Amino acid sequence: MNFNELGLKQEILTAIAGMGFEKPSEIQAEVIPYLLNETGDVVGLAQTGTGKTAAFGLPILQTIDPKAKTTQALILSPTRELCVQIAGEVSKYAKNLPMHIVAVYGGEDIRKQLKELDNTPQILVATPGRLIDLMERKKVHLESISYLVLDEADEMLNMGFLDDINTILERTPDSRRTLLFSATMPNEIAKIAMNYMKNAVEISVGKKNEAAKNVEHYYVLTKQSTRYDVLKRLLDYYPDIYGIVFCRTRQETKDVAEKLMVDGYNADALHGDLSQAQRDSVMNKFRLRALQILVATDVAARGLDVNDLTHVIHYNLPDDRETYTHRSGRTGRVNKSGISIALVTPREKGAIKPIERVINHPFTQMDIPSGGMVCQKQLYYMVEKMQNLEPDKKLERYMPDVVELLKNMDRDDIIRRFIALQFNQLLEYYHNSVDLNASVQQEIKSSKQGRVSKGRGSRGSDDHDEPKKSRRQMRVVDKGDTLRLKINRGRKDGFEPKRLLGLINDVTGDKSIKIGDIDISPKFTFFDVDKKRVKQLIQAFSSNHRAKGYIIGEVKGNR
Ligand code: ADP
Ligand code: MG
Repeated sequence: MNFNELGLKQEILTAIAGMGFEKPSEIQAEVIPYLLNETGDVVGLAQTGTGKTAAFGLPILQTIDPKAKTTQALILSPTRELCVQIAGEVSKYAKNLPMHIVAVYGGEDIRKQLKELDNTPQILVATPGRLIDLMERKKVHLESISYLVLDEADEMLNMGFLDDINTILERTPDSRRTLLFSATMPNEIAKIAMNYMKNAVEISVGKKNEAAKNVEHYYVLTKQSTRYDVLKRLLDYYPDIYGIVFCRTRQETKDVAEKLMVDGYNADALHGDLSQAQRDSVMNKFRLRALQILVATDVAARGLDVNDLTHVIHYNLPDDRETYTHRSGRTGRVNKSGISIALVTPREKGAIKPIERVINHPFTQMDIPSGGMVCQKQLYYMVEKMQNLEPDKKLERYMPDVVELLKNMDRDDIIRRFIALQFNQLLEYYHNSVDLNASVQQEIKSSKQGRVSKGRGSRGSDDHDEPKKSRRQMRVVDKGDTLRLKINRGRKDGFEPKRLLGLINDVTGDKSIKIGDIDISPKFTFFDVDKKRVKQLIQAFSSNHRAKGYIIGEVKGNR
């Protein structure tokens, strides 16, 4: 079907052709002929981005009288942004017609809107609350309304506009045509349709949403202060990830990418501050899968034609729901489902519901993988990789010698040791890892009890996987007050000052114990502790299961 088969005025056809509209969308192809040729009301069910504005806008422009200075069409919409958008869109269709279109909405000085209303608009776009206000001031007149449109009706109900909508419906003439558009059909909408609509037909079109692809939508709850740790945990949990981590700003993109690179991930950043050549290079690496993880802003990722990602991670959710759809639409392949994971703080959780409505799909809460789960996943991944590996032929010449060297070790032991070679560091790291789920639950609990102070930022948190060196690695000033201790881990075990500090944090659960003068030898690490705290430390190490395998003791004699 073509637009010029619909019997629309030339002025309208020229305008939409100028906007690049070639063919009516599905909902337009159904709704426009019905509105032009029949008399009943319409309940239209369609997702965002399916072209609903023109579906009701074009028939309205076709049939109302531009010469009559009365308000003939009223379009109700839930938010200021949508009002502005609809009025802008309809104005473009009406470019060649003498039509006055006004948008009124809350949150803006009413005087400006009152002034605009002095010249009576033929089409009025409004949020329900502001419209009632203006009705009470007798600034809008609804007695000549022939079209009443409830756009994004489900959203309006969710925002608590039901009473206002009922009030407005009652003040408009019975002769009006009512058009209701919604992404979903909750009971309240069916009720409105029953009470206020005549001979309504239901027209619903299939999802045109990208999110309708094969995507599983998850969110994880995190504290603001552990957002980055949660990201790392997720990346560790998906060793074969090929995905984008979406950030909200350039700065955040740079920060996250930089930290990931420092932490040894195969990641890079894509954002607007890069030169075109740099951007091309990053995109090429990513396309070729030489890069596993791309950290990007929405704008920068637009130029990237990669849509078969295994994962999309929302380091922060976008402000608008359309962007979520675009982001998550980049995952989900033909036969495999893609995974979209949003990191949200308890306070940001409210952003999930509106997105669910747009994608017409529920989110599932995902627990943050525990250290143990990550280790298991990585191990299986390595085993699988090992099984699929084609060993280099050049290895053959060394084989007899190596086999000879290992001849007294049994198979299990050899496997264990080779795995240990690869995994000791990871196991060690996760052995002492905090339960990130528990820490966010703790925060929810204490904020319910009103104990969490407002505006807790990301800085200065005590809950990182890896404690910041600067927090505690003090220089002990008075040597007389300290005792020198040692622990049975050293450079050969990959032990580092921050490991020691993390370990002490975890085992004692006490961050006030000051440690100084850390000295790492191949097999041992030496450090100073406040004399008064030594007993506490040694006791914690002998009783806490987290300290299993660690032996801590006093260094006898002088250093
Ligand atoms: P919805 O209200 O269903 O979310 P919109 O009416 O806002 O969708 O339309 C989404 C976008 O698609 C707008 O930018 C609009 O200009 C464009 N659009 C609408 N209909 C067509 C069409 N038939 N051809 C091309 N673009 C269209
Ligand atoms: Mg719309």
